[in-house]
This record gives sequence, C-alpha cells and structure tokens, in this order.
Amino acid sequence: MAPRLVQRLGVPAEVLVRGARLYDPAAGLDLIADLHVRGGVIAAIGGDLDAPDAEVVDADSLTVLPAFVDPHVHLRTPGQEESEDLATGTAAAAAGGYGAILAMPNTDPVLDSVPLLEALFERGAEECVVPTGFVPAISIGLTGRQLTEMYALAERGAAGFTDDGRPVESAGLLRRAFQYVGPLGLPLALHEEDMTLSRGGAMHEGVVSAELGIGGYPAIAESAMVARDLRIARYEDGRIHLQHLSTRGSLEELAWARSVGIRVSAEATPHHLLLTDEAVRSLDANLKMNPPLASEDDRLALVEALRCGLVDCVATDHAPHASDLKEQPFEQAPNGVTGLETAFAALYTGLVEPGVVSLAVIVTAMTVAPAVAFGLEPPRLAVGASANLALWDLAADWTVRSAGFRSRSANSAFLGRRLRGRCLLTIAGGRVAHRLAAVGVSA
Ligand SMILES: [Zn+2]
Ligand SMILES: [Zn+2]
Repeated sequence: MAPRLVQRLGVPAEVLVRGARLYDPAAGLDLIADLHVRGGVIAAIGGDLDAPDAEVVDADSLTVLPAFVDPHVHLRTPGQEESEDLATGTAAAAAGGYGAILAMPNTDPVLDSVPLLEALFERGAEECVVPTGFVPAISIGLTGRQLTEMYALAERGAAGFTDDGRPVESAGLLRRAFQYVGPLGLPLALHEEDMTLSRGGAMHEGVVSAELGIGGYPAIAESAMVARDLRIARYEDGRIHLQHLSTRGSLEELAWARSVGIRVSAEATPHHLLLTDEAVRSLDANLKMNPPLASEDDRLALVEALRCGLVDCVATDHAPHASDLKEQPFEQAPNGVTGLETAFAALYTGLVEPGVVSLAVIVTAMTVAPAVAFGLEPPRLAVGASANLALWDLAADWTVRSAGFRSRSANSAFLGRRLRGRCLLTIAGGRVAHRLAAVGVSA
C-alpha cells in the first residue's frame, strides 16, 4: 500500500532558475543550466530558456539540489502545539530545503487509530507547507501491549509504523508486528533502546559522564536492542528501519545484517555525525537527546558508515521543545533537539567542505535513500518530474541563532555555530514553500 502525503493547496510554481549548478547525483546530473518550473512541474532544463510568464531567479554561482526527504520528524501535533504545529514544523522543513517529511506518532493523544490519522490528514491538507506523511504507532498508546490496527491504518495511507520515543520492549509483540506489516509492504521504524540498560542515564556512559557525575546511558543499550530486532526482522523476513543509530556496536550489527541480506535501512542524525559527549561538558540542555551524543570513536564509526553506504539515510529526529521545557537542569530537561533548518548546512560545513564525505553521499542520503526506505517518490531534477527542489548558496556563511528559526522552538544543538550553505528557495510538491527575502527575483 502506498503512503499518503498531504500538503495545503497553493498556486503551482512558475519559476525560471537561471544559470544555477543543477546537481542530482541519482540522476547523474551536474551541469550549469536554466531550469524552468511550469505549473509545478519541471518543464525544461537547458541553456538560455525562455519563460515569459515565470518569475526569473538569477542563480549565478548558486546550486539547485533535489528537495530533501526527512523520515523522522516530531511535529508535536496534536497536543503539544506550544512546541510545534503542522504549519511551523513544515515551514521549518521548507527553510531547510526539505520537500517531504514523515511525522512521528508520540503526540498527545498518540497517533494510534484511523480517526486520528484521518484528522491529521485533514489538518495537514490545510496547514502543511511541504508534503507530509504520518507514521502511526506500532502499539496502542505506545504502551507496548497491543498492536494498532495496522491493516486499516495502512489502507488509509500510513507511511510505516513506529513507537519512536520508546523501544518496542516485547520481542513477541515486535514479531507479531512484523507478521502483520509484512504483507502491507511497509517498514517498521525502530527506536533502539534497552531501557533496563539506559534507565537513569542522561548522557552517554563514559569518561565524560563519570567526570560530570551524571548517570550514564551505555552504548550497549542501543546495540543490544539493534541485535535483537535485526534477528526478529530476519526471522520474519521483515522490512526494518533503524532510527538514529549512534554507536559503533550498532553499526557492527548493521554490517552483519547487510551481509546476510536482511531488508534494512538505517538513519543517522547530523548531531550524532558531528558532535560527541565532550560537548555535554557545557551542561547545555540543547545537547540532550535520546540516544545521547556518544564518544568520538562512535562518531567516527558513524561517519564512516555514512560514507560507505552502510548507513543509507540522514534523518533529523527534529524534536522541538518550548523554551521553558529546556530551561531546566541538564538531568531534568526533556530529550530532543530541532534539526530541520540546520541539517544540510551542518553536514556541508562539518563533513563535505573538509572533504570527509562527498556531496553526492550527503544528497543521496537526504533524498533517494529515505524515499526508497518508505516507499515515497524520490525527488528528481528531471524534465516531467514534479518540482521538488531547493536553491542553495553553498558559499554563504550564517550563524545559527534562536531568533532565526521558522520552527516554533529553538532547541538546536548548533546554536551559535557558523555554518556554510544557505537555502534560498524551496519548491515542494510543485509549490514555492520557502523563499529567503534576499533572493533576487525579477519578472
Ligand atoms: Zn527515538
Ligand atoms: Zn524521534
């Protein structure tokens, strides 16, 4: 069954991007040319295009990338709109160059029933600036006791299932979930955490946690669960998507899974790819998330896994929290950081510019790979494709500041950092979803 994405109605884009570098590694495209979007569709790519009715964007020295796909976003709706809602969350996505996102079900109430899913589709069709899909819960109320009505939810357009925020503690329930979801062709997206190991931990267990005297969350809390769940997926021949991997041990399990042919996809977040538990010495609650920032050895393993394709997807795990929630001592503060508006620039600055990971790998992990993992149409810079693209100034420096976010929340792990790469214009689902005021548009 096919996932359903919703987006608010809007005027289809009529834009001529003139003279940009058009870069789409999946399509083998890397050239300087004009790109004409007509009626929300890429109508032409070539030199000196003429489009009298379109807005013309002079894009000398700018780069057009396919719009990104984020398989892991918390939109906090319904129930926690003081932190985010569908309009602000998708505006944040558009500002980060995203053209499609999938929302997690740990809302209040939990997205675990057909009426709630339909209510979100209805609301999304009025409020979502970029096409948005929803991933309902595996278990009712995220309690791990009883499976949701997976068939009925899939029929209505669920994009997969997850209990994210929590692991599926019962191996028996997870096995039954794979049995139900198998014929539906949808993945189970799993937050990997053995809570009997992580309980009481507020940061990665290691030298830094010992020095700070903060309860440790050991790396094996993740890798032990990854090992278990991969074996259940293998036994049931299920499609498994591993969320926000953060440790070397988990990556060793993933390598084994690929070697024996398990149908697995896996994501890494920009914060786990770029930061370590050393940063937690600041006791800044904006560096607290689950799983926690791990050791430099774990981070290097994660970067290498992304570089070689073992980890195929980048996801933000965008987890907004209203400022009063994060303004607590580190150990009491809630887990989670925002990420949609900084993801690409952080990775470009931290990994691409220094030559650690190629632009092709980053773009693929932010477009085709997550789309394929969740059965979505991959964004393409190709004539005839729906316009899902973003215009970037890869030379622009900017400083991450709380006042600059479209998200309702500002709990970014990258606050105060200088990043390179600014998204100037995003066309998502054929509509202009984001435009930086500075973009020169002439008629
Ligand atoms: Zn999670
Ligand atoms: Zn999450």
